[in-house]
Amino acid sequence: MNKPSTSAILKLLEQQYGRRTWQPSNDPLSELILTVLSQNTSDKNSRPAFLALRKAFPDWSLLLVADLEAIAEPIKSGGLATIKAGRIQSALREIQQRHGSLNLHFLADMPLEEAREWLVKLPGVGFKTASCVLLFALGIPAMPVDTHVFRVASRLGLIPLKTTIEKAHLLLEKSVPSSDIYEFHVLMIEHGRRSCAARRPSCGSCICKNICTGYDKYSTQS
Ligand code: SF4
Repeated sequence: MNKPSTSAILKLLEQQYGRRTWQPSNDPLSELILTVLSQNTSDKNSRPAFLALRKAFPDWSLLLVADLEAIAEPIKSGGLATIKAGRIQSALREIQQRHGSLNLHFLADMPLEEAREWLVKLPGVGFKTASCVLLFALGIPAMPVDTHVFRVASRLGLIPLKTTIEKAHLLLEKSVPSSDIYEFHVLMIEHGRRSCAARRPSCGSCICKNICTGYDKYSTQS
């Protein structure tokens, strides 16, 4: 089977789950903190951890000088609290040092690659975290590739099987029109959660089954 087009996939996913449109989430600094908190856990755990951190530190600049234990305490429900506390504090200190203030709005004036490069140089920030900040907070068409997007895109045949997750960001970004990146990202996650699960994907009832290059292989696992 030929590689499907991302526009055909998007059309099917819209049909199944409805349309999604971008709306600004948080300011970019808060989005960065939220995304670090979401590393290795679900939104169900990271969101309360973020809200508890916000309550304990109503001004993010307080995190610059706080003890790590004081940062870790409110975020412990999200797991890996001490590691994440360290990542958040180190990233914030670096932003303060490199930019002169705790503000990431200036990234909106940079070309995508330059803005992502700026972010991935921060401690604890990889391609996915950087892309989340750019896309969700600033509406810049960076494609975050999490485990759902990576799995579903591989199975559909959109990216080669041995592609690294970093390369997958660039490949998907190139194959999806900028104006569709947010919706594509959100609907691929939804599809990964509801249909194309890691174990026992529901290929028989999948809206994409007629264009999915992985159907023959994965339908036997359903
Ligand atoms: S047909 Fe199966 S492998 Fe392909 S996208 Fe659907 S659930 Fe995933």
